[in-house]
Amino acid sequence: MSTTEIEKREFQAEVREILDIVIHSLYTDKEIFVRELISNASDALEKMRLKQLADGDVFEADLPLEINISTDETARTITIADHGIGMTREELAENLGTIAHSGTKAFLQAMKESSGAGADVIGQFGVGFYSSFMVAERVEVYTHSANPEGEHLKWASDGGGEYTMEEADGQQRGCRIVVHLKEGQEEFTTAHRVKEIVERYSNFVGFPVNLNGERVNTVEAVWLKSKSDVTEEEYEAFYQFVGHAMDAPRYTMHFSADAPLTINALLFVPGENMERFGMGPQPAGVALYCRKVLIDQHPEGLLPEWLRFLRGVIDSEDLPLNISRESMQDSALVRKLNGVLTKRFVKFLAKQGKDAPEDYMEFYKRFGRFLKEGIVASPEHQEALAGLLRFQSTMAEGEALTSLDEYVDRMKEGQEEIYYLVGDSKAALEKGPFVEAFQARGLEVALFVEQVDDYVLQSMREFKGKKLVSADRAGIELEDVPTEGESLSPEDTDRLVEWLNTTLGDRVERVDAGKRLVSHPVVALIPQDAPNAQLRAMMEAMGQPALEMKARLEINPRHELVKQLNRLRGGHEELAGAVARQLADNALLAAGLGTSEADAAANMNGLLSRLLGEIGK
Ligand code: ADP
Ligand code: MG
Repeated sequence: MSTTEIEKREFQAEVREILDIVIHSLYTDKEIFVRELISNASDALEKMRLKQLADGDVFEADLPLEINISTDETARTITIADHGIGMTREELAENLGTIAHSGTKAFLQAMKESSGAGADVIGQFGVGFYSSFMVAERVEVYTHSANPEGEHLKWASDGGGEYTMEEADGQQRGCRIVVHLKEGQEEFTTAHRVKEIVERYSNFVGFPVNLNGERVNTVEAVWLKSKSDVTEEEYEAFYQFVGHAMDAPRYTMHFSADAPLTINALLFVPGENMERFGMGPQPAGVALYCRKVLIDQHPEGLLPEWLRFLRGVIDSEDLPLNISRESMQDSALVRKLNGVLTKRFVKFLAKQGKDAPEDYMEFYKRFGRFLKEGIVASPEHQEALAGLLRFQSTMAEGEALTSLDEYVDRMKEGQEEIYYLVGDSKAALEKGPFVEAFQARGLEVALFVEQVDDYVLQSMREFKGKKLVSADRAGIELEDVPTEGESLSPEDTDRLVEWLNTTLGDRVERVDAGKRLVSHPVVALIPQDAPNAQLRAMMEAMGQPALEMKARLEINPRHELVKQLNRLRGGHEELAGAVARQLADNALLAAGLGTSEADAAANMNGLLSRLLGEIGK
């Protein structure tokens, strides 16, 4: 392509949409575009540094790794230049013309909903470059790739539907981004205003940042300082820097250790869980350093995946400086770091839960899902994580939440198992047929109400040596309790049970007389190791064939309905059979088994008309 030829291309549709929002509906926090462009420059320098370590063949190898900002009031421009990795023509088109990653839709949604207030999320969604169009009438990117075969290029756009690319002689390696400011945005051409912004957002950038030739940032390794030397403000500023955030961190954990590994870590829990807005899983957000030198911005495997919401820095002197990203992931050292850090963090959360329960609940509401993910994914941390769970319970008043530790403290003498139920709500669970048997014996039932809970609890099995048992299962040994109301005689009960077994046939596995029930006539219990209703519904939703599963029925020989059924059996055996089937269906429905509600209603109607006919005779 000759020097004079200008290539025009269209932005990808998603980019056009983002630009439209950026240009027309973001009014606050416009200054973050400076942060985003500096952050990109810093990323590019970091890639350059790694490339130089790996192979010597780069364009203009001697250029300094630094960021230079210049302002020009007359031309109404601010320019951010770096000698980083730069871009080739295809990279320009790819990186500044399209968005490849997932989460764009979520971002667009979040932006629309926040109606103008959402500029702060732009960097977190990985579309920071486009934030420059909040203030620019035109953006030009001059670049030469570190690849010696690259061209000298100029990219330009006014943020409308398209951009241009052409050759432009004399670019040095890296990128020079010239932001032509709109009328009214002159503040970004004044040095003191820009200095303020850089100090506020970019003070921790790991390369020198110069403004009109003067050094601005301090390149400080906050995480290596001792706790007592860091102020809240510094922590907050550092969090905002590493997390591309505007808010304050929810939790800050700063610690150092000498054994078994030398570690300095500064970890933040963000104010908000971005995945709640439908954003796809985020990349690891805790960077890995060795003696202040960045090894990897998004190290996989340094922390378990379920800790991907954390932001911050981990610095370990024990890492070899020349470690490659690939070998890092499966090095024994990183596994060890992972173990130590995860344990520390979980312990930290446990302490927060104890010391400041209300703050902890705010955290738990937003990030509890990650802890549950951890219970399933990291068996080695399972018990500690289980201690972090919060749930309602038959012994916690109203909406109040409790923990497994508190449950264990409340356990009765001789109680060996922790009972729980998973369902839609506390009210629904307490109304159901399963809770009352436990309540009558003074046994607590933990009540969980999230879809995932069943899966989480099944993968847990034990807490502090106590087995976790779903209270809707057959085979739970319950002691006898004195029961109210007259019961059918043992002989009558036996005969009724026998009759029911014949009448109900293979609708159920079998029928027994139970001691569980107080106010319900019949309950359906599923085998101890079977998946429960929620899990079965989930499997069905995922297209797996419904499980053929038969429940055991327990009847309550003290219940009026059961006694009446026994009497009815005398003169009206057929009608009694219909009633028995209806009772069984009701119990199965309550346990989320078999029978569809439509069928049950049809049967019920049939039964009613027969009853009315019987009375009319
Ligand atoms: P993100 O930084 O989260 O990837 P951005 O929208 O900020 O998203 O930037 C898009 C991409 O453009 C970057 O990933 C990078 O590949 C490229 N890019 C932006 N600025 C530079 C730069 N100064 N040097 C080299 N590449 C850059
Ligand atoms: Mg960026």
